[in-house]
Amino acid sequence: MKYSELVMVFEQLESTSKRLTKTHYIADLLKKIPTENLPMIIYMLQGRLFPPTDERTLGVADKTAKKAIEIATGLPEKKVISEWKKLGDLGKVAEVLVKEKKQRTLFSHTLTVKKVFDNLRKLVEITGAGSVDRKLKLIAELLTSAKPKEAKFIIKTALEQLRFGVGEGVVRDAIVWAYFSKEIELKYDEKKHDISYNENYKKYVKAVESTYDLMNDYAGVAKKAKEKGLKGLQKTGITLGQPIRAMLALKEDTVKDCFKRVGSPAAIEYKYDGFRMIINKDGSDIKIFTRRLDNVTKQFPEVVKAIRAHVSARQCILDAEAVGFDPKTKEYKPFQNISQRIKRKYDIAMLSKKLPVELHIFDILFYKGENLLEAPFKKRRQILEKIVSSKKWSIQLAKQIVTSNEKKASEFYSKALELGHEGVMFKNLASPYQPGSRVGHMIKFKPVMEPLDLVIVAAEWGTGKRSGWLTSYVLACLDPKSGKFLTVGKASTGLKEKEEQGLSFKAMTKILRSLVRAEHGRKVDVHPQIVIEIAFNEIQKSPTYKSGYALRFPRITKIRDDRGPNECATLADVKRMYEQQKK
Ligand code: ATP
Repeated sequence: MKYSELVMVFEQLESTSKRLTKTHYIADLLKKIPTENLPMIIYMLQGRLFPPTDERTLGVADKTAKKAIEIATGLPEKKVISEWKKLGDLGKVAEVLVKEKKQRTLFSHTLTVKKVFDNLRKLVEITGAGSVDRKLKLIAELLTSAKPKEAKFIIKTALEQLRFGVGEGVVRDAIVWAYFSKEIELKYDEKKHDISYNENYKKYVKAVESTYDLMNDYAGVAKKAKEKGLKGLQKTGITLGQPIRAMLALKEDTVKDCFKRVGSPAAIEYKYDGFRMIINKDGSDIKIFTRRLDNVTKQFPEVVKAIRAHVSARQCILDAEAVGFDPKTKEYKPFQNISQRIKRKYDIAMLSKKLPVELHIFDILFYKGENLLEAPFKKRRQILEKIVSSKKWSIQLAKQIVTSNEKKASEFYSKALELGHEGVMFKNLASPYQPGSRVGHMIKFKPVMEPLDLVIVAAEWGTGKRSGWLTSYVLACLDPKSGKFLTVGKASTGLKEKEEQGLSFKAMTKILRSLVRAEHGRKVDVHPQIVIEIAFNEIQKSPTYKSGYALRFPRITKIRDDRGPNECATLADVKRMYEQQKK
């Protein structure tokens, strides 16, 4: 397939903010393309080159992209910089300058989707000495053959700035429209922006979505839908050893409402303040995945050991919360203290002794070759009780009571807070396990005015005794419609000046330094990748920030290593909290 055909769709997607229209364009494309091109195209439409479980990044700096434009167009650096200043976007610069060049030379070569994809993917593997030059070559090679519009999208993809506002929901619906349009009797009126389908629609959407929750890759789901149809999707099972999306919780503010949601009697458990682990056990082979589906098995040897020693099932998948504690004082530590272990590559054995975690198991998804997703929670808990032998400070079943009594529930909640836990979870005893869904099967109940998870998009160098550190951080929420991060404020409190006191300016500077994409005097723009939890006192309307809102007295409470930028608070979350607070 020619890259220019894909670029046409990119342009269509950029030309509209309407979700249905975007879905229509993508569905049309999916219908046409051969199966072998599906993965490449589905990833690129979502602004990436890899499935979401693959954390690799291309690591192309603005400087490298700028240089590639110079090489491909033969224009001097001064000219490229002056266009960049004027247009503010290197993708547009590439488009304009390649256009100028074409008028001069007429040389052209046809680029295929595969060629573009392959060259850009190679960028990931290039590291070490001479890597900048080799990266440059790969990008410049593409630009030399590119037409102006193609050049724009090549640069945007290389810089990982390709965003069409195509969220997971759009891809899911497009797969249904593309491969099941007959079954759902789809009619789409582009002019009226109107769509109709029959009563089968929900069934197909659910099949595609549930398959995604098990496979975590829309490229694989699309292939299955195309080749195996509805039955094939519905037959997708759990594959032991593969990451699965965790089921998420809703929230209520009173005990009464919690019971209303999950029914009575309900199971109530402590809500532990650690981080989520989904653990696969297949004989002696143990794999630990985080909520972001990262494999962190190597980082937590004590968990592997505990599972081997205290879980009697040969095969199972467990859902649990790992909580750090001080081995000397036996006090639980807040999440931020153990978060450093998630990405750690060295000193692992030492850290597992210094900052060990205790595992609190609260669910089971697979046992002895049997998929338990549809089994009622009560039965799943019974299995857990049979196979887990608890050992304090190593592995435990989540503390649980089953009651329909509001007073008992409130007492259990007070006890949870007293012991330093975050609150409690109410669970429906008859509910299935729905991977990836925030459904009402479990409800969290904890103190109100929650902090927000926001992304750092820029930072500023400090002065005086804080010079040499990035000390002020511009925070943003996500607008899922446009895929853009919109600023909501600036935080400079919460971090420590001394490393031994907790998350420090120095540590944050180290993290952000590798993400810098542009510098303006004392300010730097960074790739939006780091999610931090922000406590604050109030949200106000504000013209200063792009979201239209500003946080009052924002304080950084922790880094959310377990969250990706697309999982941060949305503009709608900020708005909802603003409205709530007005009430
Ligand atoms: P929060 O920041 O409040 O933890 P969240 O958005 O990270 O919320 P939710 O799904 O809303 O996640 O809340 C449930 C989380 O609580 C789970 O992801 C899990 O990590 C944690 N948790 C702690 N104890 C339990 C428990 N007993 N049962 C289920 N989840 C628990």
